[in-house]
Amino acid sequence: MAKKTIRDIPLQGKRVVLRSEFNVPIKDGGIGDDIRIRAELPTLRYILDQGAAVLILTHLGRPKGKPAPEMSVKPVADRLATLLGQPVGFIPYGAEEDIQAAAAAIPFGQAALLENTRFWAEEEKNDGEFSRFLSTLGDTYVNDAFGAAHRAHCSTEGIGHFLPAVAGFLMEKEIAALGETVERPQRPFVVVMGGAKVSDKIALIENLADKADEMLFGGAMANTLLAADGYAMGDSKIETDKLELVREMMARVRQKKCRLVYPKDFVAADEFSPDANIRVVAADQVPAGWMALDIGPVTVSDWAEIFAGAGTIIWNGPLGVYEMAPFAGGSNGVARAMAASPGITVVGGGDAVAAARQAGCGEQMSHLSTGGGASLELLEGKKLPGIEILRDK
Ligand code: ADP
Ligand code: MG
Repeated sequence: MAKKTIRDIPLQGKRVVLRSEFNVPIKDGGIGDDIRIRAELPTLRYILDQGAAVLILTHLGRPKGKPAPEMSVKPVADRLATLLGQPVGFIPYGAEEDIQAAAAAIPFGQAALLENTRFWAEEEKNDGEFSRFLSTLGDTYVNDAFGAAHRAHCSTEGIGHFLPAVAGFLMEKEIAALGETVERPQRPFVVVMGGAKVSDKIALIENLADKADEMLFGGAMANTLLAADGYAMGDSKIETDKLELVREMMARVRQKKCRLVYPKDFVAADEFSPDANIRVVAADQVPAGWMALDIGPVTVSDWAEIFAGAGTIIWNGPLGVYEMAPFAGGSNGVARAMAASPGITVVGGGDAVAAARQAGCGEQMSHLSTGGGASLELLEGKKLPGIEILRDK
């Protein structure tokens, strides 16, 4: 799985086409959260410091294959220039010859950003001709857009058939943290699974149960698993139409050597509201008309003990309705106990990462994965086109 990175190739005097993940929120022509732009600075600075000229590609939003002014990436070029402390060019949508001329004119040690790749209908079709065109804009391809690596598009995969392709630092870190950690975990290897739906995560559970020593279930997912085992879960969120599917999956998962751990207690509420009446109940005592909205304190302290002896912990999916303070205790407690663990700690999934940050533990984890769909697919053991295209070490 080890892929070549920008450290492994000469960059001096090269024209680099860098695929970044700058799919940032744009509102009223301004950029909201710019964390994705900041995250790209180490890769970009490294390439520039080596003396390369950099043409950056990104998509933004879903313009559906035609130019849409409100999804222009021009504001991204401006923000990048501010953060980088040097000018960053912007190459608008236009004729191929004009784009080629503008790319060839980027001075060494400087960068320019091409307009939103999804303004071209060919991009999402992974069209061979458009990939070849993109490859004429440089002599080396660097993919740092992990969040788009599960898509085979011209800018994430197709271009790599025409140019030598290597990983940037963000991509390298994600491959190491998700891919390699799962393949060669420090043991005991503990997986914490939560979130909304079991049915979203069947492939994930089955793949990780092959590798993990223990798998801990919380969140609404645990409600469905317990309901499939015949527990009365009151009015808890349950995938009632998926119970048979879940039983079949769990029959397979139980054949594996992985120990399965369910919540011992829940924080139950009489309505789905932060103002609900609340009771901590044993897992088999959810009252009729009540709903389990978080794992309970006994469960959190049991799990904290497991984490204290863990070699690797991977967490996906919050363990309760962490968006409401009365039901955030389980996710907060698990985040803190993970942060205190001596093992390698990896958090994947948009909501689990948000929950870890909300608990104030984001910085203490070994890795917070930035890619939603891409993280899940990598943890499912799938091959991602944007990673496969990179040169092996
Ligand atoms: P991730 O983004 O980390 O993969 P998911 O998207 O699968 O996680 O699930 C996140 C959602 O699950 C959150 O909105 C959270 O409120 C919800 N959730 C977690 N536990 C429960 C529960 N017990 N009852 C209802 N919703 C829950
Ligand atoms: Mg989510």
